[in-house]
Amino acid sequence: MNKTIFTKIICKEIPADIVYEDNMSLAFKDINPQAPVHILVIPKKPIANLDEGTEEDKTLLGHLLLIVQKIARKMGLDNGYRVVINNGNDGGQTVNHLHLHILGKRQMTWPPG
Ligand code: 5GP
Repeated sequence: MNKTIFTKIICKEIPADIVYEDNMSLAFKDINPQAPVHILVIPKKPIANLDEGTEEDKTLLGHLLLIVQKIARKMGLDNGYRVVINNGNDGGQTVNHLHLHILGKRQMTWPPG
């Protein structure tokens, strides 16, 4: 299987502005930010997308949400923020490694595009 850009970031083969790391997950700034704060949280395990997660990944998936909460606090997103998971083509996913977008420091609108 070809390494995705995110696997290369996990392996430190390409640089990223990392804001958090532990044994299960990594978080770094999005290269093309859509908000003043735009962080990507990824599992180190190469799960392609939310659809590929299994019962075995239950702890890991829960962990990612708690990391979102931790990073939001660290980045001072006290007034709220948005968490997005794009899944597959219709979801607008462009990198096939599960990632949670944290977007903050601006007013979000609904419905999303
Ligand atoms: P998706 O569209 O798959 O939900 O989101 C992929 C995100 O990854 C996009 O917001 C894009 O800007 C970001 N991205 C793509 N390549 C890189 C990269 O090499 N470094 C970083 N930091 N972000 C990237």
